[in-house]
Amino acid sequence: MGFCLFNNVAIAASYLLNERTKLGIRRILIVEWDVHHGNDTQNMFKVILGYFIFQYIASSDGSHCMIGEDHGVGYNINVPWEHGQCGDADYLAVWDHILIPIAEAYNPDIILISAGFDAAMGDPLGGCCITPYGYSVMLKRLMKFADGKIVLALEGGYNLNSLANSVFACAKTLLEGSPIVGNFEGRPFESTWRLINEVRNELKTYWSVFSIDLPEEILIANVERYLIQVIVHALGSTEIYCSCVRPLKMIQTRVTKIG
Ligand SMILES: [Zn+2]
Repeated sequence: MGFCLFNNVAIAASYLLNERTKLGIRRILIVEWDVHHGNDTQNMFKVILGYFIFQYIASSDGSHCMIGEDHGVGYNINVPWEHGQCGDADYLAVWDHILIPIAEAYNPDIILISAGFDAAMGDPLGGCCITPYGYSVMLKRLMKFADGKIVLALEGGYNLNSLANSVFACAKTLLEGSPIVGNFEGRPFESTWRLINEVRNELKTYWSVFSIDLPEEILIANVERYLIQVIVHALGSTEIYCSCVRPLKMIQTRVTKIG
């Protein structure tokens, strides 16, 4: 659904599998963190490869129920955001509870990242807000797999400053082996936890790692936050839905002030 003339990552994966068999690469993990759904990648490999896609813009073939076909069933994972403004906390929650457990179980020989940066904070099309630090942590968590064989193929990104800062953070992480300096604020949206649960339920037949429920303390904390969102919304403030920074304390303070 993006603007690429050629699907570089899909071509690379196909080449590795079919033309360079002597390299012994059998398991390829494709991670797409561009906000647009990689529908062509999904269509090319839905019966062959394990790969992972974030999808933000709704489309009929980007559902989390699209999990591959035939021999590839269970190897296609879509995480379709329900709305914009997803940021570091949301992406890293998905990393921790879907992607990293899958990567550990799948044990890829190489990781190819469709590295669009239109989910970066400030991008005019993406509507998400990943910081350069967030990208560097997401990347670092993948670098422990496949003996470090990881490829970032540049794709989308439509705010040149956001794009430059995000690519710089990732290049620095690759070169130095650690994330750039930074820290996180905020927590995942309620919808993010719900989506993570739905994706894990869809896949637990194929991946035993998902047969374990999410820790209860996460779900309890999530319910608390969801109730606060409902209260704030009922009081007529929708500001929290437009904010990238969502510290719980700030929301509680606002509820007290209005009430
Ligand atoms: Zn895109």
